[in-house]
Amino acid sequence: MLRFAPSPTGDMHIASLRIALFNYIVAKQKGEDLIVRIEDTDKEKNIEGKDKEILDILALFGIEYTQVIHQSQNVRFHSAMALQLLHEKKAFSCFCSSAWLDKKREEAKEAKKPYTYDDACRNLPPELVIDNTSPFTIRINRPDETITIQDHIKGDVSFEPDAVDSFIIMNQDKTPTYNFACAVDDMLSDISIIIRSEDHINNTPKQEHIRASLNYNKKIEYAHLPIILNESGKKMSKDDNTSSVKWLLEEGYLPEAIANYFLLMGNKPPQEIFSTKEAIGWFNLNTISKSPAHFSIDMLKHINKEHLKALDAKELSRYVGFADEEIGELARIYLEEVETTKELKAKIAPIFAPRVIPEAFAEQIELMTNTIKNASFFEEYDDFKNYIMKETGLKGENYFQPIRILLTNAEHGPDIAEVYKYIKNYLGEIIK
Ligand code: GLU
Repeated sequence: MLRFAPSPTGDMHIASLRIALFNYIVAKQKGEDLIVRIEDTDKEKNIEGKDKEILDILALFGIEYTQVIHQSQNVRFHSAMALQLLHEKKAFSCFCSSAWLDKKREEAKEAKKPYTYDDACRNLPPELVIDNTSPFTIRINRPDETITIQDHIKGDVSFEPDAVDSFIIMNQDKTPTYNFACAVDDMLSDISIIIRSEDHINNTPKQEHIRASLNYNKKIEYAHLPIILNESGKKMSKDDNTSSVKWLLEEGYLPEAIANYFLLMGNKPPQEIFSTKEAIGWFNLNTISKSPAHFSIDMLKHINKEHLKALDAKELSRYVGFADEEIGELARIYLEEVETTKELKAKIAPIFAPRVIPEAFAEQIELMTNTIKNASFFEEYDDFKNYIMKETGLKGENYFQPIRILLTNAEHGPDIAEVYKYIKNYLGEIIK
């Protein structure tokens, strides 16, 4: 079983989508189920409705899963497991106040030493624990030995016991800490491989230690994905527009192009343009680059254009607000000039909108409009053109510029004879 574990705390980040795609592909390759675990235990950071938004995005990208779990539903298991660790003396109650712990942290900083908890409460006599009415957290005993994890991307990574520390697993309000909830849930869901951001690499030994302390010995595989850098080479933050999947979709990037780009990033695909389904055939976690991936909007634009070109006419027309093959073919002519569906729509919509007629051509356009309204239907542009020229007496500059404005509502654009092919059946709608 694999899991995608987003936090419903904001717009879905592209790094998160990339992780979802990787999990989906590896689940398909292994023939295992993928579940979605909404990590909603941090009530203060949760944003209402973000879980649904995440699921909608997964659907848009064709990322199938078998189950959705909200982490908050598992809190009773987290408490039960914490109790078990307390009984087995693998965890202890800690009465140290935050102020005291902050002081210790400060002292460590001044002494230029990494801070670790001093285990002051680890060996308190039972009567001091029982009689103590102060609020307490529960800490797990620090591991005795080095913990080494094997990562498909990073190779072997080792952590000394002090780096893992006797860390808190249950907060004073009896809610589980992030690492505890995550470690227990991965165990309960029988996860075989965890694919997530390298931001979590320091959590991994803690989570391994929790599961080992609970006598869970199944070996979990790992792949920690390198971070994504923005165009200025900095870690992509929430303030970068391009970090939001929703923003990219609104800007007119196709889901299949976005997926293609994020699967290509830091990877060695056999070809540049591919579908997620095709990637299942060749994708290999072990060949993902260890170095951070660099986001390039130009590369995404290029890939988007290739995917737009590959759409059939009917599909293309839907992206510009129609469901009509001829409009799809019309849009295809304009594809040369654009990179996104938003830009494409901005080319097609004016054709069907009221005309903006420059003063200089007002007279010619009126003449043409009346002539077209009274004309019969012309299959071929040349016949249409010859008829209008003959009836209006307009030619050269006085014909070409006004006819373009009349037919397309723009002063520049593709070959008008080509455009005519696909709008000739709509002349009644276009020329009012
Ligand atoms: N909820 C975490 C995040 O969104 C993911 C944790 C994990 O995959 O273990 O970063």
